[in-house]
Amino acid sequence: MENNRFGNHSDKLKIGLEAVSLASKITRKIQNALCADDILTKTDSSPVTIADFAAQTIINSTLSKYLPQEISMVSEEEGANLTDKKTLENVMRYIENTLDISSHLQLKAAVDLGKSTQKTGKFWTLDPIDGTKGFIRGQQYAISLAYVEEKEIQLGILGCPNLNPDLSHNPENINKKGSLLFAIKNLGTWSTDIDNPCSNFKPVLSCPELSLEELKLCESVEAAHSKHSVTKRILNFLNMKQESIKLDSQVKYAVVARGQGHIYLRIPTSNHYKEKIWDHAAGCIIAEEAGLVVSDIYGKKLDFNCGDELKINSGIVCAPRKHHGTIIRAIEKNI
Ligand code: AMP
Ligand code: MG
Repeated sequence: MENNRFGNHSDKLKIGLEAVSLASKITRKIQNALCADDILTKTDSSPVTIADFAAQTIINSTLSKYLPQEISMVSEEEGANLTDKKTLENVMRYIENTLDISSHLQLKAAVDLGKSTQKTGKFWTLDPIDGTKGFIRGQQYAISLAYVEEKEIQLGILGCPNLNPDLSHNPENINKKGSLLFAIKNLGTWSTDIDNPCSNFKPVLSCPELSLEELKLCESVEAAHSKHSVTKRILNFLNMKQESIKLDSQVKYAVVARGQGHIYLRIPTSNHYKEKIWDHAAGCIIAEEAGLVVSDIYGKKLDFNCGDELKINSGIVCAPRKHHGTIIRAIEKNI
């Protein structure tokens, strides 16, 4: 990679891309061989797999080895959930030849590098497997890494190991080549080869000029994560007839950034749930730098400086600039 092509963040980008590429390789292997023993349940009843721990270990260790230590990491998983010996051994099996980690203690410590208590100022945020439910079903998932500074996302990287790099294919169909996208604040969104990430960058652009009737919507597969009935009502209200695309994870942001879909709506299913920063940071900058507007369902900018959660926001609306206001008004009338 040319030294300063991406300004102040070139070093972070290079290391981040290499880390996400390596994590993609390992999680692909794990997904292909996934069995019941590889899946655990966390205290909040959500699933977690050995791939979540392996990817978090790879990315946390790589960033802490090659980049300044004073930048904190806010990652989804914690070593405390790695309780039994068998699970630890299973994770070790996939990472031992790639990292300098040789004991269970070192493995847990690498996972917990991501439990920084400093969540403002300069920090990384990581979801090692976003869309764990999709990962378990053998479908789409994303490895999501973002860097935040001065209250703004500066850099976002999304590894999408099952998303076809060929835009003419249906993104719901699994493709084992995979895609890697990244965005740098004010320098655009780019795609690169997921297995050879530091060369051959191609610009990524959304479809800003389509009419409302032409727009295709992306939403979660999981009805518990976004209220499908309300989304349907909004589409009817706006007379939008294109069939929706259902995808797990931040692959939805990648798909709208690439212009294969055009809107991503996430309608809250409860008043209590707060979106997690690692579920949106990388996707948000990737969509914005590709020309879309990202806000919550009230049109408010997402605030990534409130800790683990988007505390002052509710749901997500990611849409072309010229239709964003219309969609916010349609939500207000139909929610
Ligand atoms: P998706 O694949 O887009 O459905 O989103 C996956 C993410 O949804 C996971 O990483 C969870 O953090 C998040 N999630 C879990 N429960 C909820 C909920 N009740 N509402 C919205 N998102 C949720
Ligand atoms: Mg997630």
